[in-house]
Amino acid sequence: MASSVKKKNGTGNGQPKLKFNTGWEYAPAPESSSHIKINSRYDLFIGGKFVKPSSGKYFDTINPATEAKLSEVAESNTADVDKAVKAARQAYDKYWKKMPARERGKYIFRISRMIQERARELAIIETMNGGKAIRESRDIDVPLAANHFFYYAGWADKLQFALPNKTPKPLGVAAQIIPWNFPLLMAAWKIAPALAAGNTVVLKPAETTPLTALKLAEIIQESGLPEGVVNIITGFGNTGADLVYHNDVDKIAFTGSTEVGKIIQKAVAGTRKKLTLELGGKAANIIFDDAPLDQAVEGIVNGIFFNQGHVCCAGSRLFVQESVYNKVLRKLKDRIETLIVGDPLDKNTDVGAINSKAQLEIINRYIALGKEEGAEIYQSGCSVPKKGFFCRPTLFTNVSQSHRIAQEEIFGPVLTIQTFRTDEEVIEKANNSPYGLSAGVWTDKGSKIFNLTTKLKAGVIWANTYNKFDPTSPFGGYKESGFGREGGLHGLTSYLAS
Ligand code: NAP
Ligand code: MG
Repeated sequence: MASSVKKKNGTGNGQPKLKFNTGWEYAPAPESSSHIKINSRYDLFIGGKFVKPSSGKYFDTINPATEAKLSEVAESNTADVDKAVKAARQAYDKYWKKMPARERGKYIFRISRMIQERARELAIIETMNGGKAIRESRDIDVPLAANHFFYYAGWADKLQFALPNKTPKPLGVAAQIIPWNFPLLMAAWKIAPALAAGNTVVLKPAETTPLTALKLAEIIQESGLPEGVVNIITGFGNTGADLVYHNDVDKIAFTGSTEVGKIIQKAVAGTRKKLTLELGGKAANIIFDDAPLDQAVEGIVNGIFFNQGHVCCAGSRLFVQESVYNKVLRKLKDRIETLIVGDPLDKNTDVGAINSKAQLEIINRYIALGKEEGAEIYQSGCSVPKKGFFCRPTLFTNVSQSHRIAQEEIFGPVLTIQTFRTDEEVIEKANNSPYGLSAGVWTDKGSKIFNLTTKLKAGVIWANTYNKFDPTSPFGGYKESGFGREGGLHGLTSYLAS
């Protein structure tokens, strides 16, 4: 199938079309956004109400696929951060810590149900504001976000089973800072366990993707959750820093870059604040010669090209056993030629828009660097829309361990490919990274899977699949990928004292 595809052409209006040898092509299948309500301006969600920022300032939030302005959102300053933390503290003392656990659970269930009811709207807004293909936001981000609330709602009145023989207690006020690659899902990962454990929350979404978090604020308001239990404040990096430094915060949960994670760790050192960090990654995806190769290639593509490689656990380093290298490379090249890059709202699109101009520049710098380092580049032949931020799926072969493209997180649809001969060699190569978030192993042999999963230094290792998530399963890293776990029982315990 793959080799029958000739080339994709942009249609000039941003809609990609697939041309086959037979002469027919996919017609655009855009998801309608005409019924979506995005306000022209959003204020801060503090104490159960939308309030104006003290600075009086707002900043634009755009659609990275069209560069069109979607809305403007409030810029929080130190006074707003203080107001939000005070609202969270008051809600904690006044309502949340006194509320019977099963009542807390009901609110969390309700939020989950409301996310499900508004799933289509949330998926479209996620795609418009973040650039990811609608297929991803519709089938992955939004259902998983609802599932996280659903799962943790069930824990709210069972905390004594989470920490047996202990008396679990909430920590108090949790400050939560999230990145732009899974805006709604990361909000759910943070808010759901915090509430279930009895904490109140101040959440800061990333600068470029505030809209689904603000929609979640509307849902939370409609759910009747006591005012101030969840506060959502928008702003830039300094808003996050103000939250980290605030004296009345008991817990900081951060997902983002290793660089900012290190700054936060230093800021928190010597304080009573509890900290969890979910940081960057440079995952190894390893294909052995006995692997089901078509399935493996599909997993590799899913691991790095879907969601534009904007995934902290993206399988960005591919290791292929030497004897099947040529075969895998050919299959991979064929497959990436079939990927449709373009309008993220189109249901046929595989690879949507890069989240921001700044991120596209970073990716392009790494692509140029890869060439300078002497690696060989292969990019899919598709055309990309002229407006908006897009990057074609990119492979690098002839890569050595010391290349920066094989060491540093690119956070884009760029895959480096290396070969290996033995288990020992690939384990050493895969572990030769400052990161340790995730890895993938493709082989027919169970014993090989067990051997590798015990020796690879990564928090999550998938076998014969990739990028699979479930609320019951913990997720988190080793080394410079951070510490603490989100998801499952582990995710709950980082919001509890005993
Ligand atoms: P980032 O620059 O570290 O930003 C993450 C969040 O922190 C944003 O809300 C950001 O605000 C805020 N922030 C920036 N400077 C801050 C400071 N000094 N103090 C407190 N908060 C601050 O990361 P990003 O560029 O948005 O996201 C990409 C990174 O996140 C990648 O490295 C990726 O691997 C990592 N990531 C990790 C996971 C995981 O689970 N391990 C999941 C997703 C992403 P602004 O947006 O306003 O700058
Ligand atoms: Mg940043």
